[in-house]
Amino acid sequence: MIELRNISVTFRQKNREISAVKDVNLQINDGEIFGIVGPSGAGKSTLVRVINLLQIPTKGQVLIDGENITHLQGAKLRAVRLKMGMIFQHFNLISRATAADNIAFALKANHVPKEKIQARVTELLTQVGLADRANAYPGELSGGQKQRVAIARALANRPKILLCDEATSALDPENTEEIVKILQEIRQKEQLTIVFITHQMEVAKKLFDCMGVMIEGKVVEVNDTYDIFTKPQEKVTADLAARTLDVSLPQALAQTDQAELLRLFYVGDKADAPVISTLAKNYQVNAEIIHGKIEYIQGKPLGVLLIKLEGQASERQKARAFLEKEVFRVESVTMEGGEANGLDA
Ligand code: ADP
Repeated sequence: MIELRNISVTFRQKNREISAVKDVNLQINDGEIFGIVGPSGAGKSTLVRVINLLQIPTKGQVLIDGENITHLQGAKLRAVRLKMGMIFQHFNLISRATAADNIAFALKANHVPKEKIQARVTELLTQVGLADRANAYPGELSGGQKQRVAIARALANRPKILLCDEATSALDPENTEEIVKILQEIRQKEQLTIVFITHQMEVAKKLFDCMGVMIEGKVVEVNDTYDIFTKPQEKVTADLAARTLDVSLPQALAQTDQAELLRLFYVGDKADAPVISTLAKNYQVNAEIIHGKIEYIQGKPLGVLLIKLEGQASERQKARAFLEKEVFRVESVTMEGGEANGLDA
């Protein structure tokens, strides 16, 4: 288990102090894919570098399986770091070395006997689906392939923890998908704990078991990924979730006295329940579906439906009360300057 206790990181520059991380407490369980999301500058990268002590915290403690590693030095620190692999946004491969040599360097650094290196490199390249590109240089590989070499290198010494710093942010959607799949497979096979920071909520939805939301140096909310998207507690979380889940609105849909816009969320099995047709049958209202989609978060469905409800205020109220019983959540969508509130990215 990874435990961060009261971690703060302050950078001092000439006459300025930057509080990059402020009193963060976090527990990450073995075998979990834990995500940290939040806007740029929130302190995500600094926090993740504290875990392998690439960044020494100004205050607080880092514990791995109960052992306080915060003040380890020399050989002991190196030994702990060997148990943690790391991958980066821009891959950090050695451009003048082949894929195989990039991986072999990590094994040499850990004094793996020469005669064992070749076999292990082949095994790792096979694991990331690049057995046939052993002799390719990074410049000859796609972004996704480069990241796969970096993953193989990070796993070379069989770490228990893999830290990923915006590892898919430089990749196109197909390559991102490929990396997400590989990380899921590896986690399954190797019992690895993965800490993954990103500002890409699409990645969060698919990959993370649990996630923390960070803003201005603080982790403000931690929860199961599905709950983060369906029951956000903090405004920043709700905004991040809304940006991922929402459907855009045509401008012409301004509300009138006789109509209002509602956003309905469905979860689990009820994701496609036929409540809308029931509405019109049981109440004096017209319900028009403006837009709908089903998202999958950790493979579980979350339906988002935007409806226009027309009718007298009293009937609309009854209809809404019915909806609130039937679906997971109902939100009013208000129009401001032609944009739906909370919808803009
Ligand atoms: P994120 O990963 O969420 O984008 P970072 O951890 O990179 O955020 O940065 C958090 C804050 O700390 C930013 O204001 C950044 O400018 C500052 N920062 C990060 N690293 C350093 C450093 N080595 N020296 C000074 N300031 C830094």
